[in-house]
Amino acid sequence: SAQPTAQIGVTGLAVMGSNLARNFARHGHTVALHNRTFAKTKALMEEHGHEGNFVPAESAEEFVASLQRPRRLIIMVKAGAPTDAVIEEFAPLLEEGDVIIDGGNAHFEDTRRREKSLRERGLHFVGTGISGGEEGALNGPSIMPGGSVESYKSLGPLLESISAKVDGTPCCTHIGPDGAGHFVKMVHNGIEYADMQLIAESYDLLRRALGMSPGQIAEVFRTWNGGRLESYLIEITAEVLGHTDAATGKPFVDVVQDQAEQKGTGRWTVQTALDLGVPVSGIAEAVFARSLSGHAELRDASQGLPGPSGKGLTGAAAERFADDVEQALYASKIVAYAQGIHQIEAGSQEYGWDIDPGAVARIWRGGCIIRARFLNRITEAYAKERKPVTLLTDDHFAEALGAAQDAWRRVVTTSVELGVPAPGFSAALAYYDALRSQRLPAALVQGQRDFFGAHTYRRVDREGSFHTLWGGDR
Ligand code: NAP
Repeated sequence: SAQPTAQIGVTGLAVMGSNLARNFARHGHTVALHNRTFAKTKALMEEHGHEGNFVPAESAEEFVASLQRPRRLIIMVKAGAPTDAVIEEFAPLLEEGDVIIDGGNAHFEDTRRREKSLRERGLHFVGTGISGGEEGALNGPSIMPGGSVESYKSLGPLLESISAKVDGTPCCTHIGPDGAGHFVKMVHNGIEYADMQLIAESYDLLRRALGMSPGQIAEVFRTWNGGRLESYLIEITAEVLGHTDAATGKPFVDVVQDQAEQKGTGRWTVQTALDLGVPVSGIAEAVFARSLSGHAELRDASQGLPGPSGKGLTGAAAERFADDVEQALYASKIVAYAQGIHQIEAGSQEYGWDIDPGAVARIWRGGCIIRARFLNRITEAYAKERKPVTLLTDDHFAEALGAAQDAWRRVVTTSVELGVPAPGFSAALAYYDALRSQRLPAALVQGQRDFFGAHTYRRVDREGSFHTLWGGDR
């Protein structure tokens, strides 16, 4: 039989799998192709077969036989049961040391389960976060592989070759064992939700406090994109706001139904954060804001509720407001990243992953949706000998927060006075102020808990647990 020639195989040739396969081929790798429905494999060959060396296979056996050892095959199918079905189809055909990569959006707990069961069968399983959508898959995504150190030795160079590059550095690194890659991808998406919500609140405030048009706000975002907020999300926001609906001639944003949808990774981030006890309030508010927007019946029923009489800003307050919002956005964004990194550190500790937050920020600089100039600063913060306990207290960020806080407070105040909801900005500011506070009313909560449930409390001046005999007859 013929010698196997493919360095990598892709099974699941919908848009993501096809684009990844083409990306590998463009980088000089020979790529085996497989899809449950062979017609898709044939279509890919017809359209793009000339772009590189592909080995199309109709059967799972043919596909596996075309792979050089250790075999590396990427599964790019629907997350959930289909992924398990495909793993079960291929695992029996593989040999010790071969590597199965799941590039889908799996929940990290599923990845942990799959990794353990395949490890017991002598196979490597690499749950891999891939960010950047279709475009990234084709031209360079940010790649977050988990799995064993050994699997990364043979797989890493292949993944690094197709990843985005920033300053010549690949946006791909070994994140940590088993589910670490999918965990970090999950938190990436949570931060993405927060980032998008904060940008949306900025737009809403500029529009409702200053009466600016979407086109004017697009210009503001374009200006911001030339500074410290430079990022993919700010850039595309300017594009979306500047877009005119062809059918009506109205601003595009005014003809879109205002109910945000979600696929679930933001929700996973918050659910996991609750389990880990990590206060990701900014991310949670972003997830809740999307779900609130979708509750049309609550919103309809509430149209008659009274709001403040204030109509908007004038004079000096109006003059400086756009700059204030820029400051509030930057400060709140720092908080969202601080919360996400806290969650990554907590997950890393819980599951023994030893994740380096600085390396994560480095591979998020390109290819992914949250790519941004300021990620360099996060990498620098975690490269220091004494790592910050929280991103907020790193010199650079502490200084930026200090400089922004007056403006940040004015923006939240304005949102409250005008009745414009800004849950992302206010949650971020409350988090900042809570961490700064020397004493929190949690002491009173402990008192309440001890009163009604004898839950006991600790004292500031003595070791041990205490319970007070409340009232006469309790
Ligand atoms: P998709 O629509 O999620 O999945 C379609 C693919 O799954 C097809 O190749 C289909 O094969 C295959 N499939 C479904 N059920 C199967 C089963 N039981 N057995 C074998 N194959 C099965 O495709 P996608 O949008 O390209 O996404 C692939 C993965 O990447 C998903 O996990 C997704 O969450 C993740 N992802 C997507 C994006 C994005 O921007 N789209 C970004 C990052 C990650 P047939 O052709 O035979 O039906």
